[in-house]
Amino acid sequence: LAGKTFKPEPTVIRIKDVAIGDKKIVIMAGPCAVENYDQIMQTAKFLKSRGVQFLRGGAYKPRTSPYSFQGLEEEGYRLLAEAARETGLLVVSEVISLASLEQAVKYVDVVQIGARNMQNFQLLREVGRMKIPVVLKRGLASTIEEWLNAAEYIMNEGNYNIILCERGIRTFETYTRNTLDLSAVPVIKDISHLPIIVDPSHGTGKWKLVTPMSRAAIAAGADGLMIEVHPEPKCALSDGPQSLNLETFEALVQEVAKIASAV
Ligand code: PEP
Ligand code: MN
Repeated sequence: LAGKTFKPEPTVIRIKDVAIGDKKIVIMAGPCAVENYDQIMQTAKFLKSRGVQFLRGGAYKPRTSPYSFQGLEEEGYRLLAEAARETGLLVVSEVISLASLEQAVKYVDVVQIGARNMQNFQLLREVGRMKIPVVLKRGLASTIEEWLNAAEYIMNEGNYNIILCERGIRTFETYTRNTLDLSAVPVIKDISHLPIIVDPSHGTGKWKLVTPMSRAAIAAGADGLMIEVHPEPKCALSDGPQSLNLETFEALVQEVAKIASAV
């Protein structure tokens, strides 16, 4: 179902007035985690003013350590929905379980299945049944075929609104948090009709690398980007080192627009 043999023409996903997989680059941006009202509202207003379409922010955070901030849970979804009402942004937020999915669908436009849950088959099936648009991240150490099989689980239940997201894979290199596999972009374009976005924040783990890799992702043919942005990265409760501040994010938007107009 995810392959071009099933459907040769590219899939365009329409959510309200935004199209993903059409010519225009789509940007999903926001903090790693929703932390409080002021943080999410300030970020959302800024992003809206810079032409971003989607506000991202984690309400349930699948953290490596149980002692790290785990997210505001349902209150996080509620704050995102409030920021969306205020700004007109669309909202994408991660689900980590069937219970969080049941909550999320009341507040968000798009659910995200994170790298750690790419092979949570029960969650994939349920997102398939819900028919809600989904960002499906590539697993931490998943092949492209395993990733497309995860998409297949969702599509097999009747939900074709899938946006693939390359977010880096684990390799022997430790300088970067993950190795962003940009070759996945043209591979997906070659074998699948689904749209694909790139997350250079988790893909590199370092804010300085986010803009260069964003430019490269768009040059490689990605349909959009997912970028972590925080008003004060040094104070972020998660992923501060890979988060752009408002100023560096503004520069990214301009750099990316130059590449997008050239491709
Ligand atoms: C995230 O987007 O906040 C996240 C946890 O990403 P990933 O699943 O790619 O690690
Ligand atoms: Mn993060």
